[in-house]
Amino acid sequence: MTTNYDNDNIFARILRGEIPCHKVHEDEDAIVFMDVMPQSEGHALVVPKAHSRNLLDADPGVLAKIAPMLQKVAVAAKQAFNADGISLMQFNEGAGGQTVFHLHFHIVPRYEGVALRADGRGMEDNEVLAANAEKLKAALAG
Ligand code: 5GP
Repeated sequence: MTTNYDNDNIFARILRGEIPCHKVHEDEDAIVFMDVMPQSEGHALVVPKAHSRNLLDADPGVLAKIAPMLQKVAVAAKQAFNADGISLMQFNEGAGGQTVFHLHFHIVPRYEGVALRADGRGMEDNEVLAANAEKLKAALAG
């Protein structure tokens, strides 16, 4: 399968610890951290450690391992942020809305009648991201 994976994309650098993140969870397969430009309170990213640009070049075995994690984080986020629902989003290539070219899944808490915040609204305050990471961590710990 052809892929064009850039080792210096921002999530690869976060995975190597070169750039900080508000980490919620890490295991041998994935890391979960808060999105710095949340489209809703508590917007988190689930990022498999294996290198692929996106879903299109991902190893199916990696996808099989990540699915239970997506469910766990979605359930925890719904509880942690008192959400009415969760949007699970994943974008592929620029035309598909992807901006960071390392496979990742968005877990976005949703509320009845509330639209998503516009993309590019800017960075959330560090204290807010840190507090939300702690809330999600606590809900994941159950
Ligand atoms: P995509 O459109 O590629 O699915 O979304 C990439 C996401 O990564 C965006 O929601 C954006 O806010 C988030 N993002 C971009 N750079 C960083 C960063 O340095 N740290 C974190 N935590 N999130 C980032």
